[in-house]
Parts: sequence; structure tokens; C-alpha cells
Amino acid sequence: MIQCAYMSTIFEQIIAGDIPANKIYEDGQTFAFLDANPVNPGHTLVIPKEPYKNIETVPEDLLTAVMQTVKFLAPQIQTAVKADGFNIHENNGTVAGQVVPHLHFHIIPRFEGDDFEHWHGAEDYHDGKAGEEIAARISRSL
Ligand code: AMP
Repeated sequence: MIQCAYMSTIFEQIIAGDIPANKIYEDGQTFAFLDANPVNPGHTLVIPKEPYKNIETVPEDLLTAVMQTVKFLAPQIQTAVKADGFNIHENNGTVAGQVVPHLHFHIIPRFEGDDFEHWHGAEDYHDGKAGEEIAARISRSL
């Protein structure tokens, strides 16, 4: 029996034009389209055309191209939808909320008084030592 080792994601089908999307930009390496379930109007997804799953696997030059597209588009989206600012957001891994396993950056226009909330945390380490230990552990592993 022949087994298919690779399943294309919905984003590849969007790039191929097999699934409709509101495309807003495309160049040789990157593609951008409106999120179908926008947090705010103009919520856009920027993706590499090559289907790397996440930050760990995408080559650095391709990630650079994606970020150049993010930088190019974000202020223009803000202006177009008359937003007051924007968030750049990437969910990396299932536990972080990544649903589509094709690296993507969310550009989320923000409006004064909108209800979009950041993470609840905002606590400090309580014990100063805990922060020092975690920073040291990370530094040692680099
Ligand atoms: P994430 O949770 O970071 O993986 O985000 C995936 C995003 O893809 C969600 O915000 C979805 O609303 C969006 N999405 C899923 N399917 C489509 C689609 N066909 N067209 C546009 N956006 C989509």
C-alpha cells in the first residue's frame, strides 16, 4: 500500500488557489491574506510559501523574508483600517494555540477600547532568585 507521508495544510491550498481567501499580498517567497475569523477588521496572516511548520524549522533567510513582509504590511494595514496600533503574533506549537501547522504571523490591528486581551499573567517572579535561576538556565543552554 502506498502511504502519503505529507498532508498539505489549508494554507497551501489557499496559496494554490484551491480554497478561496482574501489575498492582500504576494511575492516570490511570501503570501498574505485576511484571517477568516478576524480578531479585528484587517486581521492578516503572513506565511512563507514553502510549508515550514514553525520557527524551529524555517530557514533563517525565509524567516527574514516573512518578517520583511510583516514589516511592510503592518503599518499599511493599520492605515487602511484606521487602527491605532497593531499586534504581531505567532502561535508556535499546539500548546501555544497553533492550529494550522504552517508557520504564520498574525497582524492584528488594534483599536482604542477594543476587547482583545493579552495573556492574563503579568505576575512577577515573587522571589528574585527564581528569575535569576531561569535566566541562568536559559543562558547556559544557548
Ligand atoms: P493559529 O491558531 O495561530 O494556528 O491560527 C490559525 C488561523 O488561521 C486562525 O486565526 C484561523 O481563523 C485562520 N484560518 C483557518 N482557516 C482559514 C481560511 N480558510 N482562511 C483564512 N484564515 C483561516
